[in-house]
This record gives sequence, structure tokens and C-alpha cells, in this order.
Amino acid sequence: MPKAITVAIVGSGPAGFYTAEALLRLGRPVEIDIIERLPTPYGLIRGGVAPDHEKTKNVTRKYEEIALDPSVRYFGNVEVGRDVSVAELSDLYDAVVLAVGTPFDRRLGIPGEDKKGVHGAAAFVGWYNAHPDFHALVPDLNVRAAVVIGVGNVAIDIARLLVKTPAEMVSSDLPDYAARVIQGSPLTDVYMVGRRGPNDAKFTNVELREMGELENCAPVVDGVQLPQTVEDEPSERDRRLKAKNLATLWEFARRGREKKPKRVHFLFYAFPVEIFGGACVEGVRFERTKVEGGRSVGTGEYFSIPCGLVLPSIGYRGIALAGVPFDDVAGIAISNEGRVAPGLYAVGWIRRGPSGVIATNRPDGVKVAGHIAADFAEGAKPGRTQLAGLLSSRRVRTVTFADWKKIEAVEIGAAPPGAQRRKLASIEQLLAAID
Ligand code: NAP
Repeated sequence: MPKAITVAIVGSGPAGFYTAEALLRLGRPVEIDIIERLPTPYGLIRGGVAPDHEKTKNVTRKYEEIALDPSVRYFGNVEVGRDVSVAELSDLYDAVVLAVGTPFDRRLGIPGEDKKGVHGAAAFVGWYNAHPDFHALVPDLNVRAAVVIGVGNVAIDIARLLVKTPAEMVSSDLPDYAARVIQGSPLTDVYMVGRRGPNDAKFTNVELREMGELENCAPVVDGVQLPQTVEDEPSERDRRLKAKNLATLWEFARRGREKKPKRVHFLFYAFPVEIFGGACVEGVRFERTKVEGGRSVGTGEYFSIPCGLVLPSIGYRGIALAGVPFDDVAGIAISNEGRVAPGLYAVGWIRRGPSGVIATNRPDGVKVAGHIAADFAEGAKPGRTQLAGLLSSRRVRTVTFADWKKIEAVEIGAAPPGAQRRKLASIEQLLAAID
């Protein structure tokens, strides 16, 4: 019997779990340790998926099955780079797979970006999702207008969360502290602004149509900005998806002004050039654009949108871990199809950037599991026991999967009627729930 290949997967989001699944399916002896910075598993499924998209989170049932496989062990509350280095993991394990995602906001690089009232999507989404890094953000939503920069699915999630009624959020896992701030806000107008045209918008049609079905909020689209058709689209699939979005936007435009107290305005062909105000945001100045060769180009014509809240939702970037080659422009690890260095691999957003849906991470995991199978006939490094010893010598309080289930039981027990859970938000609360 060959010795088990020892694999450390760093990160317990979709990319990490799909890699573990693919390794288990190799049919070879493997010992997989999933190392997670937070006490809680599941990465963006817990901390990124919108609180009102409960069904999307059901995928964690599959991840739980993987975590409970006898070959898999979960080491929560262990930060690679702080508690243990990548180099140390490489000494202990045959293979180390980075599945750490891209948790930081890309910056706009314009004046005023650091004013009070500007929150990048990673921070804002983290706040309303009870992410330990951001639960203490306390955004000031005592504003009438907000500008969301970008027209992707994250932008549309944020816009929707800002305007839904309490009744529409009943079954969500929106934390009570965020519900109080959002639902107590006098906000009436959200402006989502895309730097290119409607056919270049990145949101998907289900999410767009949702904006037309809200109880208290009307979508506002100016038909003048909408083309009649989708042209120059080489892929038939993309053409169909874009045509669906365009048809939905036209349907919104034809509705005219609905009598609802809130509005989400879809604006295109404008990029932000300055966020203005005193210490606090007072508005965003935009330059109108045209699209040339797929890129937005300024036209020299400007306009402003007064607002007290700006939420740039323009994508994410990762961070360089010591010993991992990093592309600082793209904000991702440098790899060749997932191979970073001998015995070191990358999957998911830290490999390819923040794109695709949850299932897009599955082929990534399959590919890297294939690399590992090709690179190792059998295992040679000790893995788990030595990691556990090292962490205990450093007094790191590791959270096991059984501990996580205790946290989960507390969260489920705290759920109000109709909701699945009320998440604990701080590390202290999460660890206390285990005790
Ligand atoms: P995204 O889809 O890449 O959208 C980013 C948006 O920001 C685009 O409209 C982009 O415009 C714009 N942008 C980028 N840089 C900009 C700048 N400097 N100035 C102005 N605008 C700028 O990213 P995302 O919304 O963060 O989503 C990340 C991934 O998660 C996507 O694959 C998304 O589909 C997925 N996701 C899915 C769901 C869901 O399925 N419900 C929910 C959330 C997220 P350009 O196109 O011109 O670059």
C-alpha cells in the first residue's frame, strides 16, 4: 500500500473544498488538512453570498460531507503567514494548495477614495455578512442617496440589500446590527454606475430581474442609454445572456416612473474621476465615456451625483504570502495552470482572479488534484501530526470541525422564526460559542 500523500489546503471556501473533493476522488491514499484563518469554514459562501440568497448557501451541505470524510481534517482559526508560514507547510506536507481567495478591495485610484462614507465592497459585504474582519465597520447610512460603482453581481447584491424591506429579508441571515442600520436608513436612491455600456454589464439576468420585483423599490433605466441589440459578440452563449439582460433593461425603461418610495438607477457610460466633499463624502464626479475597442474612453463631459455613501464594487485582489510569487497588478499568485512551485499549487480566485460563479471553482480543484496525482506516486512528508504539534507549541487555538458544528448549533438556535441562522460576528463570540 503506498503511503498517503499529505496535502495542506489553505482556505476553506469553494476552491478549497472542490480541491479536497477532487483529491478524494483520485482513489489514492491521501491525507488532507484544510487550514482556515477564521474559526468558521466556507469562505465567500458564508462571508460573501448575499444574506437573502439562502438557497445558494445550501452547497455547504456538500462541503460538510467532504469535511467529515475520514481522510480530511479541518484546522480553523489558523492563519498562514502568522501562525505558520507557507515554507513551514511545504516542509511538513507533500503538497500545499493555496485557496486563499482575493479578500481585498481593488482601489479606484481617484481623489477622495479615503473619505468617510466610502466603503469598498469587500468591507461592506463583509459587514452585512457578519464577517469578523468587518462587523465593526458601522457605516453611516443616514443618507438619502448612495452611489455603487460597478455593474457586476456584487454591485447588484449591495444595491438590492440597501432597498429591500424588512419583510423581504425575513428568511435571510442578515445580522440584526446590520438590519437596524439598513432598515433605519432614510435612503431613497441608489445609483449603480457602469463605465461601459449595458451590453458590457457583468451582472447576470436572475439578479437583474430581481431588481424589478422588489416591494418598495423601482428600477430606473433611461432608454436613451440602451442599444437595440447585442452586436459583435463572438460567443453565442454570451450573446444570449447579454440579450436577456438587454431585454430586462428595456422592460425596466418602458415601465417609466413607478410610484415606489425607493429607486435603483442604472447608469452607463461614466467612470468616476473624483469623490468630493469635506471629511465626509458629498458626491461623486463622473466623466462620460464612450466604448472604443471594448474599453471605456473619457469624452471630456462631466456630471456629478450628490450622495453621502459610495460603495465601489469593482472587484477584488489577493495579498502576497511570503514565498509565493505574486502578480501585483492582477493581485493574484503567479502560477502555470495552478502550479506555483514544486509541491505548491493555487486554485480559485487567488489563481485566476475574482471571476465566475461558485461552481467555476470545481474544475480548478480537479486540475490541481490531477497535478498532485502526477507529481507524487506516494507521500513522503508527515503532515497532520506535525502540524498539530507545531501549532500547539505556538499556543494557537485551533478550531476543529466538531467545534464549528457547536458554533453552528448556537447560530441556528439564535435564528428568529423563518430564518436559518443568526451568525456570530466576532472571533471572541465564535470561540465562546465552542466553550
Ligand atoms: P465583476 O463581475 O468583475 O464586476 C466588476 C464591475 O466593476 C464591472 O462592472 C467593471 O467594469 C467595474 N469596474 C472595474 N474597475 C473599475 C473602475 N476602475 N472604475 C469603474 N468601474 C470599474 O466583479 P464583482 O461584481 O466583484 O463579482 C466578482 C465575481 O463574483 C463575478 O464573477 C460575479 O459574477 C461573482 N458573483 C456572483 C454572484 C451571483 O451569482 N449572484 C454574486 C456576487 C458575485 P468593466 O466591466 O468595465 O471592467
